[in-house]
Amino acid sequence: MRIARVTTIAALMAGMAGTVAHAGEPQRRVTVYLRDRTNVHPEVWIPAKALAGRMFAKIGVALEWGKGEPAGESSQATVFIELVTDTPENRMPGALAYALPYEGAHITVFFDRIEKGPDPARVLGHVMVHEITHLLQGISRHSDTGIMKARWTSRDYGDMRMTPLAFTLLDVDLIYAGLRKGMAKTAVLVAQR
Ligand SMILES: [Zn+2]
Repeated sequence: MRIARVTTIAALMAGMAGTVAHAGEPQRRVTVYLRDRTNVHPEVWIPAKALAGRMFAKIGVALEWGKGEPAGESSQATVFIELVTDTPENRMPGALAYALPYEGAHITVFFDRIEKGPDPARVLGHVMVHEITHLLQGISRHSDTGIMKARWTSRDYGDMRMTPLAFTLLDVDLIYAGLRKGMAKTAVLVAQR
């Protein structure tokens, strides 16, 4: 299993003030802005987005999809996703996406590589959840099973057709801890293959 940990980048994330608790129930919301989806057909994008939303909803995190650009600094966790195509073969070979902390937190998805494979909507949904989780957790780690595996096997790809890959309990704890802290103070470049 190859794990791409290309480099570690520390970044101060201004404006990530964390979530506010209401009556003991913490708000766990993440706003996601998509950039440049011109190359992605709505038939792929819409179910991918819905799947990612359902996967996070299961653990009590609401994904909200922002329109345009965020207005000023938000106290809420904010993630930007860019879908790129025409990825050169030598750019992180085999990786489907990577996450970096800038402008808040930024995910680049090599959509052309996903599109070439089967079931692009389902895979895109899973890839987005995986990378958003890295940014929310703010640490470089993978799990042995489920959505946060470093590399999904053909069996995992088969399983995700039946039911979405799950978070481990530790994945969930780390997401909650990251959201409490105000998201990735130190994020890492981690690629999903
Ligand atoms: Zn990863």
